[in-house]
Amino acid sequence: MDKQTEFVLRTIEERDIRFVRLWFTDVLGMLKSVAVAPAELEGAFSEGIGFDGSAIEGFARVFESDMLAKPDPSTFQVLPWRGESPGVGRMFCDILMPDGSPSYADPRHVLKRQLAKAAELGFTFYTHPEIEFFLLEQGFAKGEVPTPIDQVGYFDHTPHGLGYDFRRQAITMLEAMGISVEFSHHEGAPGQQEIDLRYADALTTADNIMTFRLVVKEVALEQGVYATFMPKPFADHPGSGMHTHLSLFEGDRNAFYEAGAEYSLSKVGRSFIAGLLRHAPEITAVTNQWVNSYKRLGGGGEAPAYVCWGHNNRSALVRVPMYKPSKGNSTRVEFRSIDTAANPYLSFAVMLAAGLKGIEQGYELPPGAEDDVWALTEAERRALGIEPLPTSLGQALTVMERSELVAETLGEHVYDHFLRNKRQEWADYRRQVTPFELARYLPVL
Ligand code: GLU
Ligand code: MG
Ligand code: MG
Repeated sequence: MDKQTEFVLRTIEERDIRFVRLWFTDVLGMLKSVAVAPAELEGAFSEGIGFDGSAIEGFARVFESDMLAKPDPSTFQVLPWRGESPGVGRMFCDILMPDGSPSYADPRHVLKRQLAKAAELGFTFYTHPEIEFFLLEQGFAKGEVPTPIDQVGYFDHTPHGLGYDFRRQAITMLEAMGISVEFSHHEGAPGQQEIDLRYADALTTADNIMTFRLVVKEVALEQGVYATFMPKPFADHPGSGMHTHLSLFEGDRNAFYEAGAEYSLSKVGRSFIAGLLRHAPEITAVTNQWVNSYKRLGGGGEAPAYVCWGHNNRSALVRVPMYKPSKGNSTRVEFRSIDTAANPYLSFAVMLAAGLKGIEQGYELPPGAEDDVWALTEAERRALGIEPLPTSLGQALTVMERSELVAETLGEHVYDHFLRNKRQEWADYRRQVTPFELARYLPVL
């Protein structure tokens, strides 16, 4: 038994943990959980716990439904909202086939496979997400426009503001679970909050994002409000993005940094951005996977809609944040299309794949766009070679269907399942006759 496993078993005994939740994620990024008694854990660590994969979105066809969840001891944490004693712990799991090989349907495995590819090239991939979400009043009916908990905006600080208390409580809980928070503030829209996690390796960040969503929803319920990661709940306010800062390290050296270069960006950094830009349209269905995601991307409010990069340009898809001369190691690129309702494992995998492709093929970085690309005319954008991102889920799927990069990165099973599931969502949406159409057309046609 390794040291980590021993540590988990000892902690469980010392802290009187009676239930251990085993967590994993389905193909759409929904958290799944099965609770086991501590007595089962030794077996779980050595062989995994069996479950019926056919009931999990995207996991298996019915005739090959047996799967195993094998906990990763390095992810053990006690859940702080369940009271001290008897306590509840949790671990993220890897999903295995009955013969012990990794499941091709497990999003965590998809990311691990891509991280291994980066490692072969000598790189470790770090990510740092800015997570935006809305706090709403509880009790809205299905289909009803919800009410945000406040009417304040960007960086506002109001005494006894609900958002302020909320953020303090949520951050305390995240820190209790070993998740470091760097910044938090009120975002631009009423009821909108942002909490930024400290950078970590991409697998840890993806696990942390899954934990984050649950913690935020739990704290909201505790405080009598409702938290949502829906990308664009209000037509007239900005949506919720999950801008993610990306960097590659070679050992403890930031591979994106080069002293004296423009924006301190090394050749590796420039090619990585070029890869992100060239492959952005085909990975968008993964980073923005819902019909609603495209209402955010097309809706202004500092969300990107065009494929370009800039140094200080908040309408760009990729931004190179301000460089602090004292911090060479903090050189990074901010990828701004991804939203908070994406599957973080699959999204990080395709973002990394796009960047690595740029490095491997030595893509040249096109000139940066320092104008507000939203303010340009269509013709001006075309003259500058600035392409639009897909404007609907349907369009994003069409591009993804032709993408070798995404097929290879997700693997055949996840790729096919994802496309089938999302084609169905798009078809369901397309047959709706919306309140907009009734209001607009009935009176005049
Ligand atoms: N909420 C904006 C978005 O949808 C981002 C605002 C910001 O720059 O943080 O991407
Ligand atoms: Mg923000
Ligand atoms: Mg940002």
